Amino acid sequence: MITDNLLEGSPMKLKNPVALVTGASSGIGKATAERLATAGYKVYGTSRRGATSGQRAFEMLSLDVTSDESVAAAVNALLRSEGRLDLLVNNAGFSIAPAGAEESSIEQARSIFETNFFGILRMTRAVLPHMRRQGSGRIVNISSVLGFLPAPYMALYAATKHAIEGYSESLDHELRTRGIRVSVIEPASTNTQFDANLLQPDATLDEYREARAAVAKRMTEMLAAGDQPDVVADAVLKAATATHPKVRYAAGAAASRLRLLRRFAPAGMVDAGIRKTLRLDALTESLPHRRGPGQIVDLAVDDRLGQ
Ligand code: NDP
Repeated sequence: MITDNLLEGSPMKLKNPVALVTGASSGIGKATAERLATAGYKVYGTSRRGATSGQRAFEMLSLDVTSDESVAAAVNALLRSEGRLDLLVNNAGFSIAPAGAEESSIEQARSIFETNFFGILRMTRAVLPHMRRQGSGRIVNISSVLGFLPAPYMALYAATKHAIEGYSESLDHELRTRGIRVSVIEPASTNTQFDANLLQPDATLDEYREARAAVAKRMTEMLAAGDQPDVVADAVLKAATATHPKVRYAAGAAASRLRLLRRFAPAGMVDAGIRKTLRLDALTESLPHRRGPGQIVDLAVDDRLGQ
């Protein structure tokens, strides 16, 4: 039964708020589902494989966020059981292994958007009619530091996360007066199954082989030394329960540092820092259009000089 006192404020003011967390079979989604259950939410997690054996503190639903039918079935099953939904955490997502931006086919580019961005759209469209009817609700979308700081050899993933950031901020403006708030969480490298679930690029070019391998090695090291998923789960709980939630939450110390850097450091300094960290200039020194160490020759200018 929906009552007027649900119209405003945090879902935690409810006795038994109900949460749905996509991609809760591992990593950040699993840690978030557990954290919310401990905080008093009735939690439904999801996996494309449905409920697998083993004990957990939350219910498990079968869900593939790339399918309209699957999304409708999962949301309807939850609403049939609980009659309401107070919090949606859009977490399901993956990345393509470090790859040049031109090393994925259009089909592969579509597939990462289909999960990371359109998956969020599908879930949001499925739950909003119910949240609007309730006059309350929270949507928390898992973005990334790559949602505000694009990295080379991860262009398509960064593009999906930028799309999430833009969509979420627009949506939050639209829904605020309807008692619904939308936030994004921006984790830095987090130690999960993320690297095991990377999709390999499907249109590789020899020219990028060395750079791709070097960035992949660096990424594996960064993920292994990254935050624990609990750090992100804590940020989700904060966004879900704040009386006045922010649109963006950096998750953990590394993400907070990067956000400050992006906001206050001169763009040239950030650009140079990324190139230095990933040794991008050294990686392309052997290519034919380079003249001397560390100096990139503009191809167009070079061609004109050669006329
Ligand atoms: P994991 O690979 O450990 O978890 C990914 C989860 O997404 C799994 O539970 C998987 O469920 C689910 N999933 C994947 N595709 C689909 C789909 N089509 N439909 C439904 N569920 C799907 O990775 P993380 O925990 O690290 O990633 C979670 C989120 O955090 C992602 O959005 C990622 O972009 C983001 N992130 C991760 C960072 C990191 O360094 N790890 C950093 C910044 C952001 P199943 O396979 O069981 O269906």
